[in-house]
Amino acid sequence: MSIADQLSDVRSRITLSAQDCGRDPRSIRLVAVSKAKPTDCIREAYAAGQRAFGENYVQELASKSEELADLPDLEWHFIGHLQTNKAKLAARFAHVVHTVDSVVIARELGRRAARERSTPLPVLVEVNIGGEPQKAGAAPSEVDEVMSAVATQPSLLLRGLMTVPPAGDREQSRRTFETLASLRALHGGAAVLADLSMGMSGDFDLAIRAGATLVRVGTDIFGPRPRRPY
Ligand SMILES: *Cc1c(COP(=O)(O)O)cnc(C)c1O
Repeated sequence: MSIADQLSDVRSRITLSAQDCGRDPRSIRLVAVSKAKPTDCIREAYAAGQRAFGENYVQELASKSEELADLPDLEWHFIGHLQTNKAKLAARFAHVVHTVDSVVIARELGRRAARERSTPLPVLVEVNIGGEPQKAGAAPSEVDEVMSAVATQPSLLLRGLMTVPPAGDREQSRRTFETLASLRALHGGAAVLADLSMGMSGDFDLAIRAGATLVRVGTDIFGPRPRRPY
């Protein structure tokens, strides 16, 4: 299947999952995860109407953004682990950053965004629900302080919460998504945290059922990636 066909298949699955639980499909945004894929693939998806793309290396996002500067209204979502020494590039090239996971990162990204941008940078707080030590993300108990750190940066706009469930079965993913949704309820609800970024190729249907507003889908759109530590 072509990228356009795969995209349209993913879009219909999103619509069906939404209808299945009584949600408006338009309340769910598809972020096409293009990491490790050449810009030709992004052009193909763009031609099929896709506008939001996700990358997990800042450098890769920046160079793709420059290569594709001729495409109007492309929207770059940074979904990888953010380090302080990459905050400047992220602030310059990303339209949304899903992975603010510490007070230090919030401050540095805020400082950089103030210099690099004329409008506030929308960000989400990444939460490590599974408590996996090797994984990025704030602990659920740290969400409050990271949210406050974002709120004190005028150049950042707090948009929501994001999570990546432990690799495992769908039941594990389902529980992780529900936990992220309850964390949102605990920290001000949708009025404060409009977005829930959760769900990938294998589990976005479950994420939608749990309230996802941003689903990050790579493989089901662009096919398998070369084995690299993504
Ligand atoms: C790679 C990646 C995705 C997409 O995963 P697929 O299984 O290919 O759909 C989503 N979110 C994050 C954070 C990723 O790194």
